[in-house]
Amino acid sequence: MSFVTASEFSPGDKFDVCVIGSGAGGAVVSSLLANAGFKVLILEEGGHHTKAEFKMREDIAFPMLYQEAGTRATKDLGVAILQGRAVGGTTVVNWTTSFRTPAHVLEHWKTVHGIGGFSQKDLDPHWDAVEERLNIKQIGLDETNRNNRTLYDGCKALGLQVDTTRRNTRNCFKSGYCGMGCPVDAKQSMLVTYLPDAVGKGATIVSRCRVDKLIVTGGRVTGAECTALGDDGWHASGKTFSVQADRFVVAAGAINTPAILMRSGLGGGMVGKRTFLHPVVGTAGRFKDPVEPFYGAPQSVASHAFADRGDKVGYFMEAAPLHPMIASLATGGFGPAHRAQMAQLANLSAHLALAIDGFHPSEEGGTVELRASGAALLDYVLPPRIWEAMRDALRTLVKIDLAAGALEVATGHDPAITFTSEKDLKKLDDAPMEVNRIAVFSAHVMGGCKMGDDPAHSVVRSSDLRHHTLENLHVVDGSVFPTSLGVNPQESIYGLAHLMATRFASDWKH
Ligand SMILES: Cc1cc2nc3c(=O)[nH]c(=O)nc-3n(C[C@H](O)[C@H](O)[C@H](O)COP(=O)(O)OP(=O)(O)OC[C@H]3O[C@@H](n4cnc5c(N)ncnc54)[C@H](O)[C@@H]3O)c2cc1C
Repeated sequence: MSFVTASEFSPGDKFDVCVIGSGAGGAVVSSLLANAGFKVLILEEGGHHTKAEFKMREDIAFPMLYQEAGTRATKDLGVAILQGRAVGGTTVVNWTTSFRTPAHVLEHWKTVHGIGGFSQKDLDPHWDAVEERLNIKQIGLDETNRNNRTLYDGCKALGLQVDTTRRNTRNCFKSGYCGMGCPVDAKQSMLVTYLPDAVGKGATIVSRCRVDKLIVTGGRVTGAECTALGDDGWHASGKTFSVQADRFVVAAGAINTPAILMRSGLGGGMVGKRTFLHPVVGTAGRFKDPVEPFYGAPQSVASHAFADRGDKVGYFMEAAPLHPMIASLATGGFGPAHRAQMAQLANLSAHLALAIDGFHPSEEGGTVELRASGAALLDYVLPPRIWEAMRDALRTLVKIDLAAGALEVATGHDPAITFTSEKDLKKLDDAPMEVNRIAVFSAHVMGGCKMGDDPAHSVVRSSDLRHHTLENLHVVDGSVFPTSLGVNPQESIYGLAHLMATRFASDWKH
């Protein structure tokens, strides 16, 4: 069939499967089911934007491609949350780092959360297939940009584990603008891979189609109520409609998937609970020579040296691209101090520490609520354990930056705390690690519709991600994870979706 907007779509037909959301989970499921002969309808709130519209400008990209135009944040405004909103979901704006779920995380899910059927052996063939389709390959050190290279060099100088990452790209131009949509289709996002595959096999993708709620009758979902959004992509056009399908797969991403369930009268229990963020703090290192953190493969080096810290919250470290808008948000201070930092942008590195939340019994993550408008809001008050891990992580990042040759290192505190030698590290001992005293953000949202086999402690069952009480409703996206992952999430979601869609294709045929 085709790509259409909600304004153009005539909702008369009944579909075998309706998939809500076209990101990492929704695209893979849709493609495999369409390939297996199912009549698939994909409903996506965001617009269908392609490379001609990816102008490498933050002011254009954020309103066009991000949830809440890039302003999403936790209820206390303490954590800025980046999530995509487009045909292709967050994969259109992500930075291409690709990790399989670590074996110890799968083991933790099995032993602590009682989740079977997700061993590495179960998932490996599915990751193999995804890696082939998305051309996931490790990047050479000579292909990294200086921002990533300084992270690598600093880790090596301190004797810390570090390696280059694997990326889902083909003929990468290394523009540095992955976060604004790839201008040359080198990023193998869902927009240019699994979604065109699905359409090639007859699927219909309806963009600018916000699913307001599911219609539930007699233990089944019988339809989805939708609002067509207008040309600006945000306001209702005045057209509303409902669609019918035999089965529904919700893949609207963490935060939005539980919100759809809540708006449909399916809230309560674990819905929206245990939402994790890999909360991130970072440092900006100022170097004598240009780093140009806005050019080159944005994320191509990672260190997991401190991912396992025993009873303490672990963290992993990566680099982030630094373009003016994000830089101005992440750089601490106001007025002249802020201006002075921004004037140095070309000479700055940006290194991040991502806290691995959800592995200690006291770390319950955030809870999704609905605003009066029905929109989703995440209430996540970071516990002291995570703040202390961030303080430790900042010490490590400062040391790495200095070891890599930074003349000065600044945290994202307000006002920024600066370091020119390791002697200054004591400044971190009583640095305020509190909400809104330091920039904290997240681009990895996980959980909120936990999978598991005990209905009291989960939303969907782990064998087929089916809702515990509704026989034709499944959730296949990053919201089903019981904890965070300790690695960037996209490949975990692709693998999970590929495994599930393979099961669906065989089970549902019969
Ligand atoms: C800037 C940035 C960089 C990142 N870099 C990396 C990286 O390098 N490596 C990595 O592994 N991960 C990265 N990620 C995260 C990764 O891309 C996501 O974790 C992943 O795409 C989530 O997949 P998903 O299927 O759960 O949801 P998404 O991919 O977010 O897809 C959900 C889709 O559902 C749509 N939707 C939501 N609500 C509705 C509704 N009511 N009706 C219809 N549609 C709806 C949304 O618009 C969205 O398009 C990054 C994220 C960001 C923001």
